[in-house]
Amino acid sequence: MVMRSEPQLRADIVEIGRRLYARGYTASNDGNISVRLDDDRLLMTPTNVCKGFMHEQMMVVTDLEGKKLSGERNPSSEMQMHLEVYRQRPEIQAVVHAHPPVATAFAVAGIPLDRAVLAEVVTTLGSVPIAEYATPSTQELPAAVRKYVKAHDGMLLANHGALTLGADLFSAYYKMETIEHFANISFVARMLGGERLLSRDEVMRLQGLRGRYGITSPAPICADPIAAEGDDSADCQVLFAPTASAGERLVSGRFGPVGADEEIRLTYRELTALIEDAVRNLK
Ligand SMILES: [Zn+2]
Repeated sequence: MVMRSEPQLRADIVEIGRRLYARGYTASNDGNISVRLDDDRLLMTPTNVCKGFMHEQMMVVTDLEGKKLSGERNPSSEMQMHLEVYRQRPEIQAVVHAHPPVATAFAVAGIPLDRAVLAEVVTTLGSVPIAEYATPSTQELPAAVRKYVKAHDGMLLANHGALTLGADLFSAYYKMETIEHFANISFVARMLGGERLLSRDEVMRLQGLRGRYGITSPAPICADPIAAEGDDSADCQVLFAPTASAGERLVSGRFGPVGADEEIRLTYRELTALIEDAVRNLK
């Protein structure tokens, strides 16, 4: 991969900030963006600026402990969360944090985006869990993120927003778009009666295709999702994909519509007859 120069990276951050704001993924001064400059320096957005109106000279350079090396402004108030990602994932080059409204609504409702529904989400992100609630800009936030960051390139932050990581700035940003797009589709599908889910076999097939698409997402799907639940630090992903009968690739979701053959409908007269019949049999 061709390394981008510092001026290019500054311009990339400005552009991504503009897109986040234009798409409504951030309001006011929300959100933050960072990228590795080299082995021991990061370039990141400053605190207290609207991401839609930044310019290249506003950015702050820090070391990996968060000490400011240059820049007139102070680094992002969520810097500790970014530092935690770079510490846990040496291969990650860029981090984006925003509050995209539909994904954030899932994070507020406590509903993770962990159902296997769309092939491209399964291949690029897999499951999108919710990191436990933490007070923003405190040490609690990096601690909450730590649990999922090894195995996930995107996660929701309870009652707060979303976090994405990537091999470069744009790949981290595109994952933010994917999460919000997925959240929108999941929301409408649930309004329409519930998603049909990809079967577990289909998910495994998609995981096998990741390499072909050049996706090096680190995490496999947990072989045993129940066993993975209690872990302090997830090293695989829990994705809800039911086992299906042979050849079936789509399965009705847990909260999906009940199939016609599973549904029971009785008229009042039929019900009364059934009760009378049961009472008669008791005698
Ligand atoms: Zn935030």
